[in-house]
Amino acid sequence: MLNLFKLQIDKIHQAAAMLLSPATIFSLPQLAAALVLATAYLAWRQHSRHGRVRPRAILRALLASRRILFTRSTYADLFYYLVNTFAMGALVGWGLISGGAVSHFVVHTLTATFGAHAPSTLPDWTLRAGLTFAAFLGYEFGYYVDHYCKHKIPLLWEFHKTHHSAEVLTPLTVFRVHPVDTLIFVDAVALSAGLLHGMFTYAAGKSLNIFLIGNSNIISVVFFFLLVHLQHSQFWIPLRGLPGRLLLSPAHHQIHHSLDPAHYNSNLGSFLAIFDWMFGTLSIPQQQSPRLRFGVLQPGTDPHRIFTLLLTPFATAAALLLPKAKSAAPASVVLVSPGQD
Ligand SMILES: [Zn+2]
Ligand SMILES: [Zn+2]
Repeated sequence: MLNLFKLQIDKIHQAAAMLLSPATIFSLPQLAAALVLATAYLAWRQHSRHGRVRPRAILRALLASRRILFTRSTYADLFYYLVNTFAMGALVGWGLISGGAVSHFVVHTLTATFGAHAPSTLPDWTLRAGLTFAAFLGYEFGYYVDHYCKHKIPLLWEFHKTHHSAEVLTPLTVFRVHPVDTLIFVDAVALSAGLLHGMFTYAAGKSLNIFLIGNSNIISVVFFFLLVHLQHSQFWIPLRGLPGRLLLSPAHHQIHHSLDPAHYNSNLGSFLAIFDWMFGTLSIPQQQSPRLRFGVLQPGTDPHRIFTLLLTPFATAAALLLPKAKSAAPASVVLVSPGQD
């Protein structure tokens, strides 16, 4: 009993550390930065439209968040946040594949095949910067491939659908992910980031450390501050032109969640838009908000019930694997094609 009590106290300390650390995926400094950025954007937009800034209108736009925060969709997001924080540890703590082990394997294989590479004469800080970027690029590519598969393969879509069932977007929506979806994701990005890390290490001819803040790649942390929380928010902040082909702005990700069939399966990257651009899945947002609706079409189901979120994907996935099981599936289970997000 005492041990259980201590475990919960430790978890509370962990959760508090996560909220205060600048480098975790969800922290108060990042949320404050997102609020400042949203306010600055609203002020800039008003100034460019009306030639002046109207603080009251900005306040109204910011306070509109209340309508979004107190919804069943957000309560379900909160459930997932608590589960991830208290029951299962951090969102990215459960990989079966270690990025470090993949990197070692790649270096070992390349050395055995082509012989040892002469150590680079470039300064170590340059090499470390290159390695940091290579690992980040590997993460982004792994994210894109994983996300592409989750949208295109019906079995995987059944689990990924949990994230898309959010009907309003708040920074907590990043936690609304089915455990099976998370398990596949962390392994895909570990594999891809480890692969590029190993290739760069071999080319550099020596072992180096990437630049970190906390345990996170410093480039990812920059995007945690600039993008991740606004991507799941009501603020329509679009990047267009070349910037909109390089980075996925908040509006890009809101399009990804859109119920409009024209937007299905688009903007599948995390922070970089380059893979969407390369593989034809990029949808550049328009300047004005099209007032999108979010969610998935699942007639007859309540997308915010914890039972639906956690267990229904297993039933629908089983129905896909076993054609006969379709008729035996509960009446509330409705199969939705991967195109519907
Ligand atoms: Zn998706
Ligand atoms: Zn999302």
